[in-house]
Amino acid sequence: ILQAQDIYKKFNSTEVLKGISLQVEKGEVIAIIGPSGSGKSTFLRCLNRLETIDRGRIEIQGGIMVENDAGGRAVYSSEKDIARMRQKMGMVFQSFNLFPHMSVLENLMLAPLLVNKADPDQARETALALLNKVGLENNANSYPFELSGGMQQRVAIARALALNPDIMCFDEPTSALDPELTGEVLQVMKDLAMEHMTMVVVTHEIGFAREVAQRVIFMDEGLIVEEGKAEEVLLNPCQERTRNFLSKVL
Ligand code: ATP
Ligand code: MG
Repeated sequence: ILQAQDIYKKFNSTEVLKGISLQVEKGEVIAIIGPSGSGKSTFLRCLNRLETIDRGRIEIQGGIMVENDAGGRAVYSSEKDIARMRQKMGMVFQSFNLFPHMSVLENLMLAPLLVNKADPDQARETALALLNKVGLENNANSYPFELSGGMQQRVAIARALALNPDIMCFDEPTSALDPELTGEVLQVMKDLAMEHMTMVVVTHEIGFAREVAQRVIFMDEGLIVEEGKAEEVLLNPCQERTRNFLSKVL
């Protein structure tokens, strides 16, 4: 469903991604773990082209977002093609990024109305169904500031789902939350996984990764150091660096 090949990314002279490749199958849940600064967020942002890459190839559902030219430089598809492919990918960030001046329902309906030119009644119905799914059916008319962080993040997840993505990417979705609010967000993500949503999750929640992810990727210094079945990487890692990292976060 998604394929990234040999992704390189530099900020000024610092090489942040040094050849990352990842293939995501439909229905798969992948957890990406690794120390701060290892390039996890940058990689997710590159997948969605929130960030340009220097070299590599990204393919989503048969469409090509970026491809190398003969000299190995990245060449991008047309903006129109990229917009079309981007829509297939829902993004949820650490900070919930809701539109503060809009109600929960309006937050959910905005993109379907603007981007998809959805029928307003249909968009409303979809939005209400999604709020129900994340347990916020009574908060359609609330404003973000009236909600707890956990509730806001659940709205952000529902909003990403409103465009009916084929794949959902999460960048440390619970790290801004108090522990007691983390559980409710992880539960929504577990429910999504049970429904076979394809998910790529950058997380420090090792328990969640073990329980929900089929595959775990450990990144360090812009490289994938180790990857494999969740239980193998998390319980019995091959690499010293992975062991070291896990001993610090567990
Ligand atoms: P964390 O766990 O702290 O979120 P991360 O693995 O997500 O870390 P990134 O945010 O991808 O790491 O950052 C990787 C490196 O790239 C860091 O050294 C960071 O300072 C640098 N970096 C990220 N974004 C930019 C940017 N827009 N401009 C310059 N440097 C950046
Ligand atoms: Mg990050």
